Amino acid sequence: MPARLSPYEIMERLVAFPTVSRDTNLPLVDWVDDYLNSHGITSHRYYNETNDKAAIFAHVGPEVEGGIVLSGHTDVVPVDGQPWAADPFTVIERDGKYYGRGCCDMKGFDALSIWALVEAHHRGVSRPLQLALSFDEEIGCTGAPPMIERILETLPKASAVIVGEPSMMKAVNAHKGGRAFWVHMHGFEVHSSLMHTGVNAIMYGAKLIDWANKINADNMARDPSGVGALFEPPWTTVHVGQISGGTAHNITAKDCEFGLDFRILPDEDPEMWRELFLAKVAEVEAEMQAVVPETRIEITEKFGLPGLAPEHQGEAESLVRAITGDNENHVVSYGTEAGHFQTGGYSAVVCGPGNIEQAHQPDEYITVAQFNAGHDFMKRLLDRL
Ligand SMILES: [Zn+2]
Repeated sequence: MPARLSPYEIMERLVAFPTVSRDTNLPLVDWVDDYLNSHGITSHRYYNETNDKAAIFAHVGPEVEGGIVLSGHTDVVPVDGQPWAADPFTVIERDGKYYGRGCCDMKGFDALSIWALVEAHHRGVSRPLQLALSFDEEIGCTGAPPMIERILETLPKASAVIVGEPSMMKAVNAHKGGRAFWVHMHGFEVHSSLMHTGVNAIMYGAKLIDWANKINADNMARDPSGVGALFEPPWTTVHVGQISGGTAHNITAKDCEFGLDFRILPDEDPEMWRELFLAKVAEVEAEMQAVVPETRIEITEKFGLPGLAPEHQGEAESLVRAITGDNENHVVSYGTEAGHFQTGGYSAVVCGPGNIEQAHQPDEYITVAQFNAGHDFMKRLLDRL
């Protein structure tokens, strides 16, 4: 008999793989593969272009449509520069909490899902259960869309998806979408005493950043839409969180680079925001080129993440509500893969153990109580299948 690990033991194994988004996740995927296979469960992979990361997915139960997907991501955010009290890649239990990178976001849920899949396989279920573990979630959910396509080609189509991002086991039925851009201002360098003959990449970049300030102020002043009113804040936001540029205080900056992200209400068109931004970029670029023609603005689109729109009597939401008894409306302002699943034609909801406030932090933890609540959720889900 192969070893049947508890959810905690599985989480310990998963956390031990330092699957920071920039690095490979293949050792973790190999482990999950071996573990599932040792229990007679066939798994499938989808590799990224450079073959150093893979998503893993599997199906148990009858080969029919209409099952349920448990969806998690395998990657975690870096620990660089964070003051951790102990090794981030070893789970430590202290004061009713499990500490470790990913315990909350979201290897705790991954472990519970793997546990549930193996249980479902041994118990036998009349409705299928599927597992989908992605990569590159923390860098814009870019691993999910091709993975979902591959799942649709490979497995009987499930109807509902539970994305286990930390929500304190509440049913989250809406979140904002996102669009992210990397902006590189290519200016023209002169001595700052002659700045009218140069193009200061920083100062022109500031025009785009100030445009973001203006958009935020305008959006804040508008009456929120019906869906918007669910959110805090109830409007679409634009944010610049990283910038670099320039070489000396008396040289007009030749380069300035920054990241600019939108968080978009699910009832607004992300394409509309993209076009507005690119129109502003074209306007500022024209001003720069009027001074020095070879200057320019280079835009790299980092990712586009669909929002999760509330579904009318959505199956995933109803299922989670029936299991948790939670009948309130919950929304979050962070993005998840649920938007991609919804775009792929699934009913999708976010529900997982832990508090998002503990995600990405030094000394990230999940409380034992939340982890156990996740375990209870899985047991009740299995009873229904
Ligand atoms: Zn996450």
